[in-house]
Amino acid sequence: MKITGIIACQASIKVARGGYAVSRGRVVREVENTVLLVETDAGITGIGESCPMGADYLPAFPGGVRAGLELIAPVLIGLDPREIARVNAAMDKVLLGHPYIKTGIDMACWDIAGKSADVPLYKLLGGMLNEGPRARIGLSAAPAEEMARMLAERQAQGYNHFSAKVGDDPDEDIERLGQITAALKPGQTIVADANRGWTVHGALRVCQGIAHVHNVYIEQPCDTYEECLLVRRAAPQPMILDECIDTIGSFIRAWNDKAMDCVNIKTARHGGISRTRQLRDLCTSLGVAVYIQDVWGSSISASAIAHLAASTPPGQFLGIWDPIGWNESDVATGGPEMRDGRYYASHRPGLGVEPMMDVLGDPVAVYA
Ligand code: MG
Repeated sequence: MKITGIIACQASIKVARGGYAVSRGRVVREVENTVLLVETDAGITGIGESCPMGADYLPAFPGGVRAGLELIAPVLIGLDPREIARVNAAMDKVLLGHPYIKTGIDMACWDIAGKSADVPLYKLLGGMLNEGPRARIGLSAAPAEEMARMLAERQAQGYNHFSAKVGDDPDEDIERLGQITAALKPGQTIVADANRGWTVHGALRVCQGIAHVHNVYIEQPCDTYEECLLVRRAAPQPMILDECIDTIGSFIRAWNDKAMDCVNIKTARHGGISRTRQLRDLCTSLGVAVYIQDVWGSSISASAIAHLAASTPPGQFLGIWDPIGWNESDVATGGPEMRDGRYYASHRPGLGVEPMMDVLGDPVAVYA
């Protein structure tokens, strides 16, 4: 089988409730998604996407995806898409780093591998170990009462696991987390995700201020790894690292330092399903729990993370992030089914999704 063409389409997805606010005044109102169709001489088409969360979340931006494709797409024509390590090596040879540009290609190749073997993707990733993993939904940064209202709405929708976007004023954050944790039901947990927003002393004040509740995790409290490590060494809460774990090397360093209990693994940050799986397997082998996520996306990347989550050992699995619950529109059908706060991966071959070509419209680039 050979890759005969790569088609790039672009779609904007509006974010619900007027936007998703995180620390430092960042608000995501709309995301720009690049959807890739990888065509083959076997008549099988793979689908993938890269959807950065704006330009101020990670060193990634939507225009970069399309610029990078100009470099990587031509060298992929003629390769066998099922030889996914070879496809990644070819991309790395012409473009160093920039994993978010490569994620859509890697995802589409896994889709093709699943379709050509006529099995759902989770079977190629190790099999069904974790049916219906619990989904985590974000609560956008807002005054305490408003966040408590958002929590009640999400609880009514069936969610049992939440991340509260905090990370600005420590006193306000203690108030917000106090109201939210008081409204949690038995078995429900919450992550206080500062998205790099706190100073070390501010983070420690919040950790002290909420030390009496048992169901809170702290996530990426500060900007740098070194600051997060200082918080980790003084705070009683379980620590999740997110933005600062961007390579295997950064994970190994953090593991040696005992810097976290859990890592958020995000498909686009690591360059696709292949490298997410590699880090997932390393984490779970070493006893570090994982969240399986993407930075943002439609039902396409939601399906990719659903297959990854389904094939993750449940003992080291904390949750799958739900982007769909924040999107006002979609660009594909057949994604994971969300039921009672849980994500069920598709049993159709490959990712199990079909692009909505009427929504995607004319391609923005075609490589053949
Ligand atoms: Mg986070």
